[in-house]
Amino acid sequence: MSKNGYVHEVEDFGLDNYSILLNEALFHNANGYIGIRYDLEEGYPDESLFNRGQYINGFYDGIAVSHPERLYGFIEDKQFMVDVANTQTIKLFIEGEAFSMFQGTVLYRKLSLHMDKGITVREVKWRSPSGKEVEIKITRMASFYQSSLFTIEYEITPLNFSGNVVIESSHDVNVENYYNPMDPRASSPCEKCLNPTNCEIRDKGSYIGAITSQSGLQVYSGVKNVLSLEEEPEFMVSQHTAICIFRPYINQGKKIRLTKYAVFCDSIRYGNCKERAYTEMDRAVSMPLEELYEKQEEYLDNYWENCLVEIEGDDEANLALRYNLYQLIQSVGKDRYSNISPKGLSGEGYEGHYFWDSEMYIQPFFTITNPQISRQLIAFRYETLEAARENARILGHNKGALYPWRTIDGSESSGYFPAGSAQYHINGAVAYSIIAFYLATGDEDFIKNEGAEVIFETARLWVDVANYYQGQFHINDVTGPDEYTCIVNNNYYTNVLAQYHLRWAVKFYEMFKESPEIKDLVEKIQLTTQELDEFTLVGEKMYLPYDETLKINPQDDSFLKKSEWVPETSIKKKTPLLLHYHPLYLYRHQICKQADTVLAHFILEDSQTDEVIRNSYDYYEKRTVHDSSLSRSIFSIMAARLGMKEKAASYFGESIKLDLLDLQGNTKDGVHTANMGGSYMVIVHGFGGFRLKESGIHFHPILPDRWEGYLFKICYLGSRIVVHVGQGECILKLEKGLEQIIHVYGEKYLLKDKLVIPLE
Ligand code: BGC
Repeated sequence: MSKNGYVHEVEDFGLDNYSILLNEALFHNANGYIGIRYDLEEGYPDESLFNRGQYINGFYDGIAVSHPERLYGFIEDKQFMVDVANTQTIKLFIEGEAFSMFQGTVLYRKLSLHMDKGITVREVKWRSPSGKEVEIKITRMASFYQSSLFTIEYEITPLNFSGNVVIESSHDVNVENYYNPMDPRASSPCEKCLNPTNCEIRDKGSYIGAITSQSGLQVYSGVKNVLSLEEEPEFMVSQHTAICIFRPYINQGKKIRLTKYAVFCDSIRYGNCKERAYTEMDRAVSMPLEELYEKQEEYLDNYWENCLVEIEGDDEANLALRYNLYQLIQSVGKDRYSNISPKGLSGEGYEGHYFWDSEMYIQPFFTITNPQISRQLIAFRYETLEAARENARILGHNKGALYPWRTIDGSESSGYFPAGSAQYHINGAVAYSIIAFYLATGDEDFIKNEGAEVIFETARLWVDVANYYQGQFHINDVTGPDEYTCIVNNNYYTNVLAQYHLRWAVKFYEMFKESPEIKDLVEKIQLTTQELDEFTLVGEKMYLPYDETLKINPQDDSFLKKSEWVPETSIKKKTPLLLHYHPLYLYRHQICKQADTVLAHFILEDSQTDEVIRNSYDYYEKRTVHDSSLSRSIFSIMAARLGMKEKAASYFGESIKLDLLDLQGNTKDGVHTANMGGSYMVIVHGFGGFRLKESGIHFHPILPDRWEGYLFKICYLGSRIVVHVGQGECILKLEKGLEQIIHVYGEKYLLKDKLVIPLE
């Protein structure tokens, strides 16, 4: 039985090109390691458009980047996520007639995503051109229990006939990445980058090895088909493809079942990925499929238990919110070798790169619901610290580390530096996420062993880049979060975050300086007391732009001097603006792609007065077009913070269904994971007013008029707190763990069991 509200289903799902591509992303199966776009197993007519992709998180190839005018330090090559195999295809022939949704008559069709069970199901009732009727049910799962495993359960019931059928299930590594020269944002720079090396049949399974063209990474995939009838499979094999064929006789009314197991192993994680593929396959088939389904459900029960969030009185919003959180657990890398990309594992948009989206939009969710996942995301940054040091050297810094704007393996992959490498604030994002992790978990060991090194090395960069002028430190020629305003001096967001980062670098040092780990670290990275003094000084004397007349924080030194371009209806028709205006034209105007200063006021609210925060909100709201999906959730959170409940709810409404309703028109290239994390933050940080600070955790709950109530859970210092905001009151309960000090509306309480607080 499905839990109510955990199933997203579409009857009569579309079969036109738009729907095929959209559903590939919306119904994809992933588990943080592998991701498989949702394609019809039997395929499509020749004229259809589709991108039958299967990916491994962190598995990439590289390609040379050509710059007609190459200047010093421009990237020479970049990485992109590779399509690793096609294990989806299963063709069915009923007495010679091929099953297809595009011929014969489809009497019934439904596609459903079960977010409690971790499966997608397609149910079809089909009449062949000659009148044979079958029921087909196909269940797909990317296993959370065994991350290398993807299964397809294919059930066939003949309704009005008995006869011979042929099932051809293929395993193909002759695959290509999606390529669309007209839309570089959506596709990979190279079509063919995976070279199959060998294909073998072993113990009735097929195993195909392949190697990438430039990065030299290897991947092995294995496929085994098991039929519910006693039937020996036949194989047709080439160097890159194996087709497993069954020719059973099926009886009217009797269901048969094919289970297709596919496993993936790559050389980033495994020394011998071929042997590992054998082991993974043996492990998968040793367990009945039903048990694998049970394990999947157990995993998700635990997930939902930790991150439960519910809106009372708005079932649609609830389902959309769950959809978003489901995509986050599907997308997030759970080992140190990968992270989470803006499109997760659902498509090739942004080439599978990792950005600051992880730290500022997605990690906040994991840090307070599943901190062990957050820890792994930070571990990925730790693993790529050496590459960040090299990146800093390329950009002219003799010390410290600078994380690349977009990357898979740790090196920079951004080809357009004004809106890429110049976004130094990514260093602040990484530090911010580590500090938040520490505040939420109190995990000192992690800070001493991994976090501190990242914090110190990235802090060094601020000291190196900041310039002392007339009594203050200025950070010049960087780009803030708003990508329509590039290469500026003193971006408020960057400076205030750098200040916070530097203060914490000193704080962590002071806290742990006597520990052997920090002593070793100081030795290893040659951190001097003079440098620590500089951290303090630069932090204290960081220049933060402020305008006396408007009483706002200007986005940067030049922003207020630029031409006004208040968004009007005519502009809205031309969004995203980046596809219609030259960058320089955008840069010269007061037009923001996304939340920038408003985001700074959210994450570091104590740096400014309420008056400045409110004035700034009003100022930037008029100038922001939200061309990035990272924007609306922040405006919603800050509207809630400023007491504009209905405005907050309306921004929330626009962000929560962004993918389900394809509001940006590009969900086909992959779902928008940062927005998904953002929509969660709106409930918890926006309406719940939750803040994680050095002084502890704070709530400032409000209830939008359109809801009856809402509920969420927070994991804090090992305890779990349930927050229910209803009509007139907020109830906080300690569900698990030790009592905790909490703050509600600025008052301090000891939460032992339950607190009931009237809404302000
Ligand atoms: C946004 C960036 C974001 C990137 C990936 C861009 O459109 O401006 O802030 O990191 O998308 O989501």
